[in-house]
Amino acid sequence: MKRTIIAIDGPAGSGKSTVARTLAGRLRVAYIDTGATYRLVALRALQMNTAVDDVAALERVASETMQRLSLINGTELAIDGVVVGAEIRTPEVSEATSIVSAHPEVRRVVVPAQRALVPPPGAVVEGRDIGTVVWPDADLKIYLDASPDVRVSRRTDQQGSSDGMAQEITERDQRDAHRPVGAMKPADDAVVIDTTSISADDVVVRIVALLHPAPPGRLYKIFRGTLAFLLKYVFRIEVEGAENFPKHGSAILAPNHRSLIDHFVIGALTKRQVWFMGKAELFENKYAAKLLNALGAFPVKRGKPDRASLQRCLELLAQGNLVGIYPEGTRKPDSRFDEVEEGFAYIAVRSGAPIVPIGMSGTEAVFPKDRKLPRVVKIRVVIGKPFRLTAQTSGVLPRTKLREATAHAQQNLSAVMEAVEPR
Ligand code: C5P
Repeated sequence: MKRTIIAIDGPAGSGKSTVARTLAGRLRVAYIDTGATYRLVALRALQMNTAVDDVAALERVASETMQRLSLINGTELAIDGVVVGAEIRTPEVSEATSIVSAHPEVRRVVVPAQRALVPPPGAVVEGRDIGTVVWPDADLKIYLDASPDVRVSRRTDQQGSSDGMAQEITERDQRDAHRPVGAMKPADDAVVIDTTSISADDVVVRIVALLHPAPPGRLYKIFRGTLAFLLKYVFRIEVEGAENFPKHGSAILAPNHRSLIDHFVIGALTKRQVWFMGKAELFENKYAAKLLNALGAFPVKRGKPDRASLQRCLELLAQGNLVGIYPEGTRKPDSRFDEVEEGFAYIAVRSGAPIVPIGMSGTEAVFPKDRKLPRVVKIRVVIGKPFRLTAQTSGVLPRTKLREATAHAQQNLSAVMEAVEPR
């Protein structure tokens, strides 16, 4: 039976446990705290005086501990049937855990045990590498983050003492993020949520909305259905990499742009609604504006920075939508991501949303200048693997960082163009 998995990753104090537990309750699926599985191994190692660098002994401890592990009532981890308690949460165990869990040999034993804990119909699984290693094909991947100060104060509230807390968290973050296997990082297709100034309840509401986004309206469905039919049977569109299309959550669809029909090709690729920016002038007529809104377009003033449309874009992404943005800004007859705009990278960095690179070939020949009627030509589309730029959802974004992010985007986007049309 197919089990639904929701992966929630992130550093200590990002709100993972509260959010994951509440979400599991709301969705009526199991809750699995994978941090606790490593904590159990570390606790046992401490009890047995096993050195934290004795890999062979740790492997044995891990294996013996995992054999005694079970999940009770779909939420509590137990050893030999006894629910584990606060003994795994002491600062000493926390520190040992991040050292012990960095050994690939230990992870090799613990990860399969974590997978085996998931009962039907599924689970919310929290940890550091759930979306990247443990369940790379999870139905939804969330990465929670928060400012270091807020994370330290949350942990202090939980444990009642702030002694050495900031240092413990910093050291643990460093180790968790830089180990060779199972490093803590957002999966390329994860939705990053900054919980610094939102409550756990609001985070849960946002995640539930990501799982059940508002369906497209009737007009959108009819229009999309017709286009999908035409593209499939008239233009015999060839799509490669359809599996890379995100099933859930926000993403920036980033196609090259050669023709007016590009919007429609992108819209036809998925049943999920795709939002696009459209020239503000198109929205001047009341009826045109209504129609365009129904088709998922929102206005952008061209030629100058448009804060309102940028804000709309970030809002749509925060709500888990797909937004189509042409990285090169305007249409170019031979477009192949040679000049990616910084504004594009800005949206990716500020939203933390993954980018889906899309290379299209053939659309440029549908409306040639010398003909009134469209030409039926073969259209080829390659959807690349999603990637993300280092997110920075708040604070000042230095120009150098934005330039680096733009270059990174350009490199990844160009690769997909090579796959569609090698130079
Ligand atoms: O989530 P928690 O703070 O309980 O995790 C304790 C430690 O366990 C982390 O600092 C990390 O070193 C390790 N861990 C891990 N992989 C996971 C979950 C936790 O390495 N999936």
